[in-house]
Amino acid sequence: MNYVYFFGAGKAEGDGSMKDLLGGKGAGLAEMTRIGLPVPAGFTITTECCDYYLKHDLKYPKSLRAEVEKNLARLEKATRKKLGDAKDPLLVSVRSGSARSMPGMMETILNLGLNSKSVEALARNTKNERFAWDAYRRFVQMYSSVVIGLPKEELEERLRKMKAGRGVKDDTQVPAEGWRELVAAYKEYFKSKTGKAFPEDPEEQLWGAIGAVFGSWNAEKAVTYRRVERITGLLGTAVNVVQMVFGNTGDNSGTGVCFTRDPSTGEKIFYGDFLINAQGEDVVAGIRTPMHLSEMAARMPKVYKQLEKVRQLLEKHYRDMQDMEFTVEEGTLYMLQTRVGKRTPAATFEIAVDMAKEGLISKEEAIERIKPEDIDRLFYPIVDPSTARADLAKRKVAAGINAVPGAAVGKAVFSAEEAEAMVHRGEKVILVRRETSPEDVGGMFVAQGILTATGGKTSHAAVVARGWGKCCIVGCEELDIDYGMKVAHANGKAFRQGDWITLDGNDGVVYQGQVKLSTPELPEAFSTLMGWADSIRKLHVRTNADTPHDAQKALEMGAEGIGLVRTEHMFFKDFEFPEKSIERQLAIQEMIIADSSIARKKALDKLLPYQRRDFIGIFKVMDGFPVTIRLIDPPLHEFVPHEPEKQRELAAKIGVDVDVIVRRVEQLHEANPMLGHRGCRLAITFPEILEMQVRAIIEAAIECKKAGIKVIPEIMIPLVMDKKELQILTDRTNQVAQEVIRETKVKLEYLVGTMIEIPRAALLADEIAEVAEFFSFGTNDLTQMGMGLSRDDAGRFLPEYVDEKKAGIFSDDPFQTLDIHGVGLLIRWGIERGRSVRPKLEIGICGEHGGDAASVKFCHEVEMDYVSASPFRVPIARLAAAQAVIEERAARKSRGKKKGKM
Ligand code: PEP
Ligand code: MG
Repeated sequence: MNYVYFFGAGKAEGDGSMKDLLGGKGAGLAEMTRIGLPVPAGFTITTECCDYYLKHDLKYPKSLRAEVEKNLARLEKATRKKLGDAKDPLLVSVRSGSARSMPGMMETILNLGLNSKSVEALARNTKNERFAWDAYRRFVQMYSSVVIGLPKEELEERLRKMKAGRGVKDDTQVPAEGWRELVAAYKEYFKSKTGKAFPEDPEEQLWGAIGAVFGSWNAEKAVTYRRVERITGLLGTAVNVVQMVFGNTGDNSGTGVCFTRDPSTGEKIFYGDFLINAQGEDVVAGIRTPMHLSEMAARMPKVYKQLEKVRQLLEKHYRDMQDMEFTVEEGTLYMLQTRVGKRTPAATFEIAVDMAKEGLISKEEAIERIKPEDIDRLFYPIVDPSTARADLAKRKVAAGINAVPGAAVGKAVFSAEEAEAMVHRGEKVILVRRETSPEDVGGMFVAQGILTATGGKTSHAAVVARGWGKCCIVGCEELDIDYGMKVAHANGKAFRQGDWITLDGNDGVVYQGQVKLSTPELPEAFSTLMGWADSIRKLHVRTNADTPHDAQKALEMGAEGIGLVRTEHMFFKDFEFPEKSIERQLAIQEMIIADSSIARKKALDKLLPYQRRDFIGIFKVMDGFPVTIRLIDPPLHEFVPHEPEKQRELAAKIGVDVDVIVRRVEQLHEANPMLGHRGCRLAITFPEILEMQVRAIIEAAIECKKAGIKVIPEIMIPLVMDKKELQILTDRTNQVAQEVIRETKVKLEYLVGTMIEIPRAALLADEIAEVAEFFSFGTNDLTQMGMGLSRDDAGRFLPEYVDEKKAGIFSDDPFQTLDIHGVGLLIRWGIERGRSVRPKLEIGICGEHGGDAASVKFCHEVEMDYVSASPFRVPIARLAAAQAVIEERAARKSRGKKKGKM
């Protein structure tokens, strides 16, 4: 096996495609060498070697020593210098570099090869004693801390002492003598700590550095970074041993970092920083203020021209924006690194669209370059990127599940009522609850963000917040909330009601205080690219919306109809007349509490006008698009009052004794409410509920039709498990609808269909399809019941199932990304069976998965007609649907090619 790959003098053994093996840096250096760019010579030790080293008790593979020696000899030949030579020494850098960029997480050692002899040679050859000794002290300093692990502060302390002794403030004022003195002090410290002299032998130095770089793969900060960035499946880091070039030999030298386009806006301008007479670390450390490239153009016109050429060449070659590091040594340009540049979400769109327009990439490639997170991050406020990491670390209180992205700042408040009161007084709040229930919706709505200690990504808080695009963190189990004392504790920190806190819904982290947020502006390129996606995709994209307001938002996001109106959600809040919210909540509670059909009818009569008004509002917004309205599906426990005060309020409102309410709440108690008397089971036992809802839908539709609005109502029956059950309810639905149509004498087309969300319904889909005119897969419940995982409680242990470092049973949370392997089978079966009876059966999905890119691609594959996503996820679904088509075409093409070869 080959563990080392050489590059230099215009030739390279590796190339740009070998990122996994050579790391991003190694592959980039090899590729740049191949295409004739000025790159210092060197060699890369592979990530496979790192893997071996870490798995074999920090021992190298047997063949490595010989390979390194051979390549070192090649390097010496190519540079005509020798490592450690007393006349013309070769100096090298030893740098990490894995397949995925992990900035600053792993180690680097510069100026390796210096010792007490070669430093004198360097001084002589460069005629710059100060430079040579500065290089040497940097090396001794880095080696001592990185390879040996001596504390940085102790070394820094000696630097400070030396400067103080000489009465100088800046490093640039230190004379050669000062650096000599410091090297001696470092060496003395080194000996006192290790019992050995600082290594003079450059090969010993080299092996020490190689081991340290490999070892840094498992340093705590690197491990944490990979966890946070979800970087998995890599072997380790490569090691790049590269000839040193110096940007700090005088005013004809320098070093810089540049991007082929502006990484914040995406604009096609050459963007970067340059420092005269400096080493790379000086740019990164931000000690001196660098000059803009335009200034470099004036100061070093020849080199700048050359750099501009490199810029064009590299972008053409890689067909993407590049982030490059370079050094100028005595007027000669050297490229030290190139990689695909990180960019803001706005720039991601701008660059993809511009490059497609320039003909550098195809429209399909532009679409493929956008990730779901890029879209997410476009719409939500984010923690300002300029915020110092150290500041964030200090403020961090706890972390939970990042249910809805974005960021929010507000004063903590522990009850929904107080949240509303505080907002009424003009304050901004974050609602903090152990969990939320429909009673909290008013407070949730006015809050900047929502934080719960329990629950997963389909818990009440998450689903409701997602619909509004409101930052939400759930399952923050570390948080110990004391409602009585109005305080929350976690990890030795606390916040009380009224204290400022900040939620970062992207990472699921809670911070103390007000962290600065910023909102990215929606770039024009976004709509251009989404337009391209729309012209490619086959899936339609609808939305889950329960109010005209949400429907309008979804329309702006590109929704082509509504795939799910959860009618029980309509009783949380009156968006048009907020003061009527309480009345609505009481009316639905009255209906649920009712213990006779007369009492129920009385309550239903109160609900009907609310429902009709809401439906009219939604139909108006969705003029010309289908609207799927689901009949009521309230898990009863969520809708009855549990607190004595609320129970008294309801008793007074409907004129019964409070004991009646208490008894009824007890009666309604279910051990497993999610498997209880909910969904269409309610309509089987209390048909009057269905009758009221169907009447409200059809009356609203007819009123809209009369007003010239094109209405396409689809009435959806939830939680169906049997054909006969569906038949009874469909018959009743048709009877009521026809009654209204007869009464009003207005012709109206409508569909009656069902959700497929119980595994039995999926299994018997052919029977169900004999009655249903459409299917909508309710994958929240289908996942819950298919996997036997409680939607409300699984968040407590699911992380163990998903964490690669723990059980790692699933790669994703199945409530977020469809379990294609298992639950997906129920869907495939259901679709095949359903369409075997009714070939044109309209099929969609309305579980949370409808807004998840990977799940949407599956929906395309199984030939659904549409997916339905919460408003803010509509663009993600549009994009994923287009990507599904592009990926399908590519797969077909590659299959065709393979066949052709056989
Ligand atoms: C579902 O179960 O997927 C669904 C959309 O219904 P709900 O989340 O309201 O149960
Ligand atoms: Mg459901």
